[in-house]
Parts: sequence; C-alpha cells; structure tokens
Amino acid sequence: MDIDIVSVFPEYFDVLNLSLLGKAQQKGLVTVRTHNLRDWTHDVHHSVDDTPVGGGAGMVMKPEVWAECLDDLLGLDPVTVDALDFQTAVASRFGNDAVANDGASADESSPQLDAEGEYALSDYDAGDAEPLGPVLIFPNPSAPMFTQKDATELAGRQRLVFGCGRYEGYDARIPRYYRAQGIDVREYSIGDYVLNGGEVAVSVMLEAITRLLPGFMGNAESIVEESYTGDNALLEHYQYTKPATWRGLSVPKVLLGGDHGKVDRFRRDEALAKTSRLRPDLIEKLDCHALDKKDRKT
Ligand code: SAM
Repeated sequence: MDIDIVSVFPEYFDVLNLSLLGKAQQKGLVTVRTHNLRDWTHDVHHSVDDTPVGGGAGMVMKPEVWAECLDDLLGLDPVTVDALDFQTAVASRFGNDAVANDGASADESSPQLDAEGEYALSDYDAGDAEPLGPVLIFPNPSAPMFTQKDATELAGRQRLVFGCGRYEGYDARIPRYYRAQGIDVREYSIGDYVLNGGEVAVSVMLEAITRLLPGFMGNAESIVEESYTGDNALLEHYQYTKPATWRGLSVPKVLLGGDHGKVDRFRRDEALAKTSRLRPDLIEKLDCHALDKKDRKT
C-alpha cells in the first residue's frame, strides 16, 4: 500500500517508523511518504492560510497551496471547475442520465447542483469511484465518523493520500474540486471533539487501516475476532492472562477447563452482555438471523 501524508508538521509522523508499522515499512508492505505543505508555497513566509471570507475568528487553509500539492501527488493538471465542467465530470462518472437538464442531478447518489450552480459538499457515493484509483482523505470533525468498516474497506485500496487540516480547517472547495475531478475523496471525523490538527486523526486512521493488511500482524487470527469486526460486530469478550489468581481476583473457571466449546459459548455470552450494557446501539444493528437460540437467552 502506498501512503502519502501532507501536513505542515510532517515530523509528527516520525512515530510511524516505530513498532509494527515500522516493521511493515521495512518488509515493503507499506510505503509512507510525508510531505510538508509549505513546500508548495511561493511567498517568503510560506503561508498556507488566510482570513475567513465573511469574517470570523482564526485562519483557513488556502485552496491554491493545497491544490498545487495535491495535483503534484495525484498527477493532475489544474482545471477550472464551473457548473458545466462539473456536469461533464458527473456524466463521465455516472452517465448522462445522472445530469438533469434543469441543472439538478437526477440521481440521488450523484452530486447535487444548488441554485447558484454550486454543488453540495459530499454527495458522491464512494462505492462508485474507480476501485484502483487513489483515495484522498481529509480528517474533519464535522464529517461522518470513521469506523472499522471504513478501515476494512480502505485496507483494500492501493494508494491513500491524507491531507491534515490545521487552524479553522481547510477551504471547503478543496474536497469539492477533487470530487469533481473524479477522485474518491473522503472526509472523516475520529470522534465528537476538536483537535488542533489532522495529524493525530490521520495517525489513528492509518493504524486502524494498515494493521488489517495481510502480513502486517504476526498472527493473522488476532484481527478476525475483534471488537467492531465482521458483519455482526460486537465488543470483544474480556481477556485474561496468567496467573489464574492475582491479588485475590480469579479468572472465570470455565476458561481453565480446556473445553473449547464451553469457552467459545462463555466468550460469546460475555461479548453479548458487555455489548448490550456498553453499546446498545451495536446490538440494535445486529442481524437477528445471525443469532442462535442460546444467544437469544443472553
Ligand atoms: N473549525 C473546525 C470546526 O469547528 O469543525 C475545527 C478545525 S480543527 C481546529 C483543525 C483540523 O484538525 C481540522 O481541519 C481537521 O483536519 C482536524 N481535526 C480536528 N478535530 C478532528 C476530529 N475530531 N476528527 C478528525 N479531524 C479533526
């Protein structure tokens, strides 16, 4: 997997050379290239931000600098996107039927043009994008939440390009522009809180994605039975190691008996009970056909 990360603090990613991700790079499973966004500036101050149009506090990351950088990384020529170009891009991606004559898209999964000829932020269905093309990912606290499902899907892609926001964030036209170029652009939040920048969020996503790559983990089994994993995802059962009794606390007796059937049943019951208590939202999403009679008693 090829990974590019653009940031104004590329040194942040030195930690990626440590631990399992470091080993995966040495083995050639993953190539990580970090880039300093300021290398694409032309002024003496290497500015990447400017004041918000319309007023307000803070600074916003400039589209020109980001676009010069991303065009280089993605091998794209700069183009001017107007409503007409945008419709052509939509038509080439989704077919002519997706572009309605009145300037609005006919298909709900296609980008919508609003009254001013602008287009909505994130209406591309990522599933329709070129499966072998690069995925451009911007962390953003107001985007949909990044999940294990996203990590699993992205682990199947060949090239990921991450753009780390800073300040008040990046100009909203940047993801729109690359979507209009037919690039699979994703914006993800890693949680309902605001960080100073996208670097930590990218590290989180990167770790969740790369550990799913075949050959990344020493024991491939360890990523099969994990929390949030699979179609009927539960929280994982509790884990214990030796000694069997520690400071007066004993591990559940069934785990010491050597009966694998009983151990599996016990762990499944524990996972169901733990999930119902801590994450009832995951229980609601379960496909009831995947539950057996014994599960229903839990
Ligand atoms: N003004 C923005 C807002 O209120 O939504 C917050 C900008 S934040 C200070 C700067 C950058 O940090 C964002 O552009 C994004 O790249 C990153 N970031 C902050 N919190 C994040 C989160 N919860 N998930 C993903 N990225 C986040």
